[in-house]
Amino acid sequence: MAAKAKIPVAVLGATGAVGQRFIQLLANHPWFTITALAASERSAGHRYADVCRWVIPGDPPPAIGEMIVQNLNPTLPAKIVFSALPSEVAREIEPDFAKAGYRVCSNASAFRYEADVPLIIPELNADHLALIERQRAERGWEGCIVTSPNCTTTGIAMTLRPLNEAFGIEKLFVTTMQAISGAGHPGVASLDILGNVIPYIGGEEEKIEKETRRLLGHIVDGERVEADITVSAQANRVPVIDGHTLNIAVGFSTPPTVEDAIRALREYRGQEVARRLPSAPEHPLLVRTEPDRPQPRRDRDAEDGMAVTVGRVRPCPLLDLRMVSVVHNTLRGAASGAILNAELLAAAGYVAREV
Ligand code: NAP
Repeated sequence: MAAKAKIPVAVLGATGAVGQRFIQLLANHPWFTITALAASERSAGHRYADVCRWVIPGDPPPAIGEMIVQNLNPTLPAKIVFSALPSEVAREIEPDFAKAGYRVCSNASAFRYEADVPLIIPELNADHLALIERQRAERGWEGCIVTSPNCTTTGIAMTLRPLNEAFGIEKLFVTTMQAISGAGHPGVASLDILGNVIPYIGGEEEKIEKETRRLLGHIVDGERVEADITVSAQANRVPVIDGHTLNIAVGFSTPPTVEDAIRALREYRGQEVARRLPSAPEHPLLVRTEPDRPQPRRDRDAEDGMAVTVGRVRPCPLLDLRMVSVVHNTLRGAASGAILNAELLAAAGYVAREV
C-alpha cells in the first residue's frame, strides 16, 4: 500500500496502558495513520502529552504528544477505531461507532461473547471474520465490531491450536502468573503486589475458560461452534511488569509424544491469509528447550512481542503433557493483536483503502 493511501485510525482509551501501546505501534505503521485520540472527560480537550502518564520506555511520539484528546463521539476522522476502553464503557459506545460505519477493533471484553461478533487471532481463526456478515445483517450496522481475546487466553489458545488440530484436546488445566500491566494503569497498588502473589483476578478464569473454547472452535454453516474441551483455569497476579506466564497441562484424545508435540508447535504457521499481514510474526510459536525457559523478561519480546514462547514440554502424570508459555500481554495479548486484526480486515476488503 502506498504511503499516501494510509488508512486513518483513531485510538479510544488512548491514555491507558493498552492505548499507549497502540500509539507506540501505530506511529510507524505501513498501512495505518493515527488521526484522532479519545479518552474520558478527564483527558478530553487537553494535549495528549499533558494528560497521558506514559508508562512504556521512551516518550510518546512528538506529533502525537501535541494532539488534542477528544471525547468518545462517533464523529472522529477515521475509518478504523482501536478500542482500549474499560469494558463497561465499550459496551455503551462501541455499537455507536459500528453503527456510524467505523470498523471497531476492540480489546475490551464487552462484545466478545456475542454470537455474531468475531473473536479473532488471525493465525488461528481468520475465517471467523465471516460472522461480520451476520452482525451487519442482524444489527443493521454499516461498520462492525471485531474483538481480540483476553491477553492470557491469547497465549493459551496460540499454544494449543496446533496441538488440538493434530492430536485433539479433551481437557486442559492452566495456572497463570500474570503481569501487573494487565491490570491497566495505575493498576495494582505497589504495596499489594511487591514481594507478593495475589491468587485472584476478577473474571479472568471465566474468560479463559469461555474464550479458549471459542478460539479453538470452527465456523459451521455461518455459526461459531465451540471446541468441546474442558478447561480449568487458576489466575494469579505476580510482581512482573509485562508478560504473562502460563503453566498448562493437557489431555488429548490421541496423546502425542513430547517430540511430536514439539514438532507440531515448531511447524505451526497458522492460516495463510495471516502470514501476509505486516505485523504477523514469521513464527507465531517459538519452542525453547532449555530447562529454565520461557521467562517473561527474556522471552516476552520475541518477534516484536508477537510470538508466544513455549518451553518445558514434558510428560504429565495427571494428564498427558505439560508445558509453559509466555505471552506479551499488552502487545500480542492486546494492542498488537488488535492491529493484526485490523490488518486482516483491510486485507480481506472490509476497509476501503482510499483516504
Ligand atoms: P487503563 O490503563 O485503565 O486505560 C483505560 C482507558 O480508558 C484510559 O484511556 C481512560 O481514559 C479511558 N476511559 C476510562 N473511563 C472512560 C470513560 N468513562 N469514557 C471514556 N474513556 C474512558 O486500561 P487498559 O489496561 O489499557 O485496558 C483497556 C482495555 O483493554 C480493557 O477493556 C482491558 O480489559 C483490555 N485489555 C487489557 C490488557 C492489558 O494487558 N492491560 C490486555 C488485553 C485487554 P482517561 O485516562 O482519560 O481516564
